[in-house]
Amino acid sequence: MANKFIAVLGGGESGVGSAILAQKVGCDVLLSDSGAIKDKYKAMLEAHGIAYEEGHHSVERILQADEIVKSPGIPLTAPLIVRAVERGIPVISEIEFAGRYTASKMVCITGSNGKTTTTLLTHHILCSAGIDAGLAGNVGNSLALQVAEEPHDVYVVELSSFQLDNMYRFKCDIAILLNITPDHLDRYDHSMDNYAEAKMRIIQNQSAADTFIYWADDPVIAKHLVGKSVGATALRFTDRDDDRCAAWQDAGQVMHIAAGGREWSMPVSALSLRGIHNLYNSMAAAMAATVCGVDVEQIKQALSTFPGVEHRLERVRVKDGVTWINDSKATNVNSTYYALGSMTQPLVLILGGKDKGNDYSEIASLVRDKVKAIVCLGVDNSKLHAFFDGMVPTVVDARSMAEAVARCNDLASEGMTVLLSPCCASFDLFTSYEDRGRQFKQQVNAL
Ligand code: ADP
Repeated sequence: MANKFIAVLGGGESGVGSAILAQKVGCDVLLSDSGAIKDKYKAMLEAHGIAYEEGHHSVERILQADEIVKSPGIPLTAPLIVRAVERGIPVISEIEFAGRYTASKMVCITGSNGKTTTTLLTHHILCSAGIDAGLAGNVGNSLALQVAEEPHDVYVVELSSFQLDNMYRFKCDIAILLNITPDHLDRYDHSMDNYAEAKMRIIQNQSAADTFIYWADDPVIAKHLVGKSVGATALRFTDRDDDRCAAWQDAGQVMHIAAGGREWSMPVSALSLRGIHNLYNSMAAAMAATVCGVDVEQIKQALSTFPGVEHRLERVRVKDGVTWINDSKATNVNSTYYALGSMTQPLVLILGGKDKGNDYSEIASLVRDKVKAIVCLGVDNSKLHAFFDGMVPTVVDARSMAEAVARCNDLASEGMTVLLSPCCASFDLFTSYEDRGRQFKQQVNAL
């Protein structure tokens, strides 16, 4: 019998991992990328003797595949995907593919914001407790590559809605759904319901032995749970004082965890991550670790030693009494809302970039209360001016990070904070949010 033929579309981290795994399990493989493949990935494919092409797709060959593994960056509406689906070729995600070849425990995290932070925090807790845990999904090496070459007992997997879109039989042992707020709607027919339903796929196939951890106060999650059969044991977290679930008690001073038949508490002040949003993230990670059976003292220790994540409310330096914070990963309005909420000093705020259809009204009252000046850092700042002019005393423009930092330096005085939390994607002036954050840090450290 002929080998199964797998076409892998997309030559990035997840595609290359999928191709290596597919070859390892005895499939014929073609990896195809319509753009350029990075040298690092080409070298990996060549070292494994895997056929690949870049700059085009050999459409007829790909449409002979028994199955297509699609990288999350390729939209479902891409013509080749549409044709494959019409032909009845199953199109799956890397996680779906990799999940078939491992029996390890899967702790999976999704949400509009907080995924990376919660994934890294959960991984940190498990590893600190001596558990052999791999980090996968949107962070770290692909799950497929680890399953093929470096297997772990547990995987902590960050799942975007794009990964979830093409997951069908994969089951999470522990699923965490942090929140659902508008993002990426351009990939979901501008329908919040479509986007939310993609997120809800994280609970599909779960049964009572599995766990579903979610934010109890999220109206979108609540709406999408109505009428759904949740097979898993559901555990909720809330910022209210509620003894029926994980909650904050004593007027928000104590984080109380109830999960996996155990209950324990620790002071909020002992957590290393700051801000309400990070309390949610800490609760979710703590609950997952508790369900995994980690010793409570080890969880507490890990929660208080977690070093934080670059570009997420990252403190860069204090100079002349001005605190500089890099939150470059705030690429949507809701993440900036939480960043502003956690600030205690008067602010100079750097906003702007590629607007994804933002509605800034969510942050208007926080901006009025806390922001003294806005520096608009983008190619087109007109929407920011239309919304914020007159709301804060000063709104100025900058066309480069050097200029933005110089303007902030003029505008901020002792006792103030300069916050880069742009609400927008970075692709107009920068190659990525990492590039934007690094340029900010460089300029700030050069002051
Ligand atoms: P994601 O991986 O979902 O993009 P990150 O952990 O990278 O999430 O954080 C992205 C941005 O969202 C950062 O600016 C961060 O400060 C903010 N953020 C983190 N956790 C939350 C949360 N639970 N709710 C809202 N915003 C959050």
